[in-house]
Order: sequence, then C-alpha cells, then structure tokens
Amino acid sequence: MSENQIFDVVIIGAGPSGYTAAIYIGRAQLKTLVIQGWQPGGQLTTTTVIENFPGFRDGIDGKKLMEEMKAQAERFGAQFVMADILKADFSKRPFTITAGDKEYVGKSVIIATGSKSRTLGIPSEKKLWAKGVSTCATCDGFFFRGKTVAILGGGDSAMEEANFLTKFANKVYIIHRNEAFRASKIMLDRAKANPKIEMIMNTTVEEVLGDTKVTGLRLKDNKTGKTSELIVDGMFLAIGHVPVTDLFKGQIKLDQLGFIKHAVNTMTSVEGIFAAGDCVDHRYRQAITAAGMGCQAAIDANRWLAERQ
Ligand code: NDP
Repeated sequence: MSENQIFDVVIIGAGPSGYTAAIYIGRAQLKTLVIQGWQPGGQLTTTTVIENFPGFRDGIDGKKLMEEMKAQAERFGAQFVMADILKADFSKRPFTITAGDKEYVGKSVIIATGSKSRTLGIPSEKKLWAKGVSTCATCDGFFFRGKTVAILGGGDSAMEEANFLTKFANKVYIIHRNEAFRASKIMLDRAKANPKIEMIMNTTVEEVLGDTKVTGLRLKDNKTGKTSELIVDGMFLAIGHVPVTDLFKGQIKLDQLGFIKHAVNTMTSVEGIFAAGDCVDHRYRQAITAAGMGCQAAIDANRWLAERQ
C-alpha cells in the first residue's frame, strides 16, 4: 500500500462527534476519511426539531443540522464512504478497517460510533416513532406542554427525565417493569416528591395505541397478568442505551456496559486510537457534548500525529 492511500485519520461514525472531528482534522490539512454507516447523521436524524443546539435561535431540523456539519467537513477536504464496518484491526500501525468489500488504512483512528437507545422492539412503537414516541426528553419534552406523558424505565435517566418532563407536562407516569428501582435514592426521592409524577410498578407496555399519534398505552400488570389502557399523549423511553462498540471488543478497553474507556485525554487504551461521543459518554448524550468531544479527539489525534512526524 502506497503512502498516498493511507489516511492520516480514519473517523468511524457520522454523528455530531464524527463530523466535528472531520471538520477539525480536515481543516488541519490532514488526509481524512469518514466511514459512515447506513444512517449518516446518527441518532439526530431520528428526532425532529433540535432547539438546544447553540446558534439556531428558532431551532434546526436534526437531519438538516447533520447535513450542514457534513458539508462543512467536505469543504475542508474530508472524504466519505458509506459502508458497514465488518472488521477493525488495531493490533498494528497503520490501522486497517474493513468496510463493505474494501480495506481502509489510517495512521490514526477516531471512533465515533455513538450509541443506540434501547427500545421495546414492538411494532406499534416503531409505527408511532417521533409521533409521540421519543427517547429524548431534553429534545422533545417541550412539545408536551400541558399534556400527559409516560416514561418507561426505573433507572436514573427515567427519574431525571420524568422530573424534567414535569416542566411541560401536567402529568407524568413512570412505568417500571420491576418491583425495585435501579435509580439512586436521591433521584428516586426527588421523583417521588414531585406531585405531577405517578409511579406504575411491575408493569410492561404491551402496545402503544394510536394511528397517527400516540393516544394511549396498553399495559400489562406483571404480577396479575391483567391488562389495562392508560391514556397518554406521549411515551418516552429511558430503558438504557447500548453503545455501538461490539466490533472493538477485545481490542480496546470498554467498561462493563460496553462504553469505550479513555486512557489519556480522548485516547483509548490503544495508542493512536481515539474515541468521542456517545460510544464513550452515557451521562450527557447531547449533540453539543458529542460535537465537543469530537473536537477534542481531533485535536488529540492531530497532536499525536504531529509528534510522530
Ligand atoms: P439503567 O441501565 O440504569 O436503567 C435502565 C432501566 O430500564 C432499568 O430500570 C431497567 O429495568 C429498565 N429496562 C431495561 N430494559 C427494559 C425493557 N426492555 N423494558 C422495560 N424496562 C427496561 O439506565 P439509565 O439510562 O437510567 O442510566 C445509565 C447510567 O447513567 C447509570 O449509571 C446512571 O446512574 C447514569 N445516569 C446518571 C444520571 C445522573 O447522575 N444525573 C442521570 C442519568 C443517568 P430493570 O431495573 O428491571 O432491569
């Protein structure tokens, strides 16, 4: 393989962190390749208006924001391929990534593969996605002013997002499949003390009701097996996130949940491999924080390469 076929940085993933990294790396005049999966733009393309990304006072469509970021990266020379990654070999430098039927070689790599919200996996949830079903209270809570919503889950996210949703909604049900909560005591106590929140325990959602928008949920009591209907205008899922890191297992250090661990700054346990965004972060998970970490990874990769030249 000749030197000009080797990229300085191969960025895996095309959400806010991958695109931001590509803007910075491209602008530093380094040869940059972004390998996008089949959903370029990542999770943001599944949301509607993003109202909390600074710089857009009237909000911006998630898909549009991602297209703008991509165009900005292209302007600085980043190249893009769309292919599923089949294999990544981080055992020797330069690193090799197999995507589709091709191999791509990078002196360094930035992993920005993001995470996926865990979903129930039932057809009605898919049908009413973004029509009252959401995984992001911070993004979509505003649209439920004066309404009734349900949030699923029994962890800190469910508690935090339920409290957040009471800023807008008149009533928030927390529906949890279990008897005991996973959430920390402080978060649970706060939710319990909120008069707008009602907890429904030992209960699973069997079906999301509605044709063009959510009108209710069919619930099943896990103790008695009895089903019932609950009228709600929206259903928020807070049942955990799954980082997209399976491919890197055994090559770089991951935590117990599969999120990538940084060793030094944004560098992973393998020198020359950096990581940014939701595949690292399960705490903030915002477009702006992912973009920020993408910038950090690009600066770190740039410095690491410069030290070696
Ligand atoms: P968790 O994994 O902690 O909780 C997920 C919840 O969803 C659990 O109660 C689980 O139920 C439930 N669940 C999982 N799968 C399903 C399913 N298929 N159907 C129904 N329910 C399901 O995820 P979180 O996002 O809440 O938290 C992730 C991490 O982030 C934690 O470490 C948390 O502490 C942290 N965090 C911290 C915050 C803060 O400090 N401000 C805010 C938010 C998160 P079960 O219990 O029965 O398994």
